Amino acid sequence: MKKLKRITSALGILSLLVIVLTACGSRKSLSQQDVLQNDRANNTITWGVKADTKLFGLMDVKDNQVKGFDVDIAKAVTKRVLGKNGHAKFVQVTSQTRIPLLKNGNIDAIIATMTITPEREKQVDFSQSYFDAGQSLLVKEGSSIKSVKDLNKPGTKVLGVTGANSVANIKKFAPKARVLELSDYAQAMTALKSGQGAALTTDNGILYGMATQNPGYQVVGGAFTKEPYGIAINKGQGDFKAEVNKALKEIEADGTYNRILKKWFGNVPGFDYKEAAR
Ligand code: GLU
Repeated sequence: MKKLKRITSALGILSLLVIVLTACGSRKSLSQQDVLQNDRANNTITWGVKADTKLFGLMDVKDNQVKGFDVDIAKAVTKRVLGKNGHAKFVQVTSQTRIPLLKNGNIDAIIATMTITPEREKQVDFSQSYFDAGQSLLVKEGSSIKSVKDLNKPGTKVLGVTGANSVANIKKFAPKARVLELSDYAQAMTALKSGQGAALTTDNGILYGMATQNPGYQVVGGAFTKEPYGIAINKGQGDFKAEVNKALKEIEADGTYNRILKKWFGNVPGFDYKEAAR
């Protein structure tokens, strides 16, 4: 009798497994799904944006909305791709989580201060670039660090964020420095303020945003790399990518892009945003 029970329960588990597996099999895998078609059906594009990066994507605790240049570009692109009533949904990403979230299908596109690099192009596709940043340094006012060369000494600590290409770049430009990686820009700024590093390094636009929020800190050393930002999209989504590129061209042509650029960077002391404009 016991044996019979065991056999029936084993059969039960087996049939459950078959049901689950069939259910999974009938769902299209991510690479088979058409993002543009899905987004049109739901009238929504889901964007991965930063939420800790002033000027590009920053959470406003007053109304729980992310705000910034990337967010506004995403909204404008959404309206061009889906129509006037198209909805842009925002999911918070960090430099480290953005590619995995895209590849897992949690988001349709990344618009998050992301440089188009050959390594990343092996994993994801990029739109045309929409902003030309360059890597720079943020230091305490009066610091002896004036340029990236000053960091190239043993014992000098530089702060960066995991998943940012700025970390690899600094290893190239100041190989003797030690890089301390934090998980996001808010934490990197806290680390700079508590004296854990001589400088914080990332793109100039991001650093100018931090400088406006943190009196007593300044951007130095000019831009020592070129960081063209692109919108990242999963490979195999050619129709969606074409629509995003078309939308970017349209917002450049009709003045929307310049309006958004001026809104976010027009009053940032020291930042020549016209150099970054497309
Ligand atoms: N643009 C650089 C990058 O894509 C640094 C900014 C960031 O961490 O997002 O890695």
